[in-house]
Amino acid sequence: MFRSTTLKLTGVYLAIIMVISLFFSANLYSLATRELDRGFRRQQAIIERVSPFDPYGDGNEVLNERNQAIRSAKQHIFGQLVFINIVILGLGGVMSYLLARRTLRPIEEAHEAQKRFTADASHELRTPLTAMQTEIEVALRDPKLTKEEAKELLRSNLEELATLTQLSDGLLRLARLESNNLPKKPVRVAAVLDKAVQANQALAEQKGILLEAQKGPQLTVMGDQASLVEMLSILINNAIKYSPAKSSVRLQYEKRGKEVVISVVDHGVGINQVDLPRIFERFYRADSSRSRQQVAGYGLGLPIAKSLAEMHSGYITVKSTVNKGSTFQVHLPLSN
Ligand code: ADP
Repeated sequence: MFRSTTLKLTGVYLAIIMVISLFFSANLYSLATRELDRGFRRQQAIIERVSPFDPYGDGNEVLNERNQAIRSAKQHIFGQLVFINIVILGLGGVMSYLLARRTLRPIEEAHEAQKRFTADASHELRTPLTAMQTEIEVALRDPKLTKEEAKELLRSNLEELATLTQLSDGLLRLARLESNNLPKKPVRVAAVLDKAVQANQALAEQKGILLEAQKGPQLTVMGDQASLVEMLSILINNAIKYSPAKSSVRLQYEKRGKEVVISVVDHGVGINQVDLPRIFERFYRADSSRSRQQVAGYGLGLPIAKSLAEMHSGYITVKSTVNKGSTFQVHLPLSN
């Protein structure tokens, strides 16, 4: 599809170049021939004035020769212009093709990313759906299904439905983020930390994890408070998910130049160096047995957090050591 579009666009660019080139060539040719004719007439007038009785001496020979010379000069100009236009056609064709490819590359990349996203999303959706279908089919085929077994089946289906809801929520959130322009107001960084800690306190307590936010200076960023809390919540939630019971998760922030750096520090399973560059990709989950098998998730949290940071003109960095822990840092520009 992109090949034929590239060729079509090349054709359009080349047509534009050739129309301009031919327009200038035609004008140049008409100007040059007019100048030649005018020069010839001026010359003729001078000769007739200098020797009015026998201006061209031997009959019309001089006149014919001059006419011939002018004709060949015109042909020469015409030939040169044709040559120049052929060169422009060749060079213009190559340049138009390169330009067309350059114009279409970002669109092609976005299209590829969209295709990959749809394929990944359908794959993730299919797994719980297939599990549910198989369970129901097996149960229906069993003539001695007891009430207790039926209840167990429903409970298991309910669990699959919960993960499906979680997945569709994540997908919807990502899709909305792409088309959303947030209203921005001054937001206190300390307030964002407090709210994010509050939102995750129950989860931390369930696991016996100490979750605390250190006090910091009075700093303000421009943004949407709810989105900033959501972004930090994702990082805190991961820190709790990927940490052992009875460990601690600490939040702190500091001013660095014109930005505030908010850190979420945990002492959990850590992330492999190989996985680190990829964890912000959609659906990517680090392939360690610990994180994959024991912790629920779809690999959509960090991409959402990254989009939210970017919507606030910020970015997220991460440092991690396997079995020691991870530190995620959000960098946001301070409001003036
Ligand atoms: P999810 O947690 O749902 O799998 P995320 O996008 O939030 O998806 O995270 C992607 C992956 O990055 C996780 O699967 C996990 O392997 C890794 N990860 C994220 N945060 C942490 C953390 N604090 N400690 C260890 N691994 C983490």
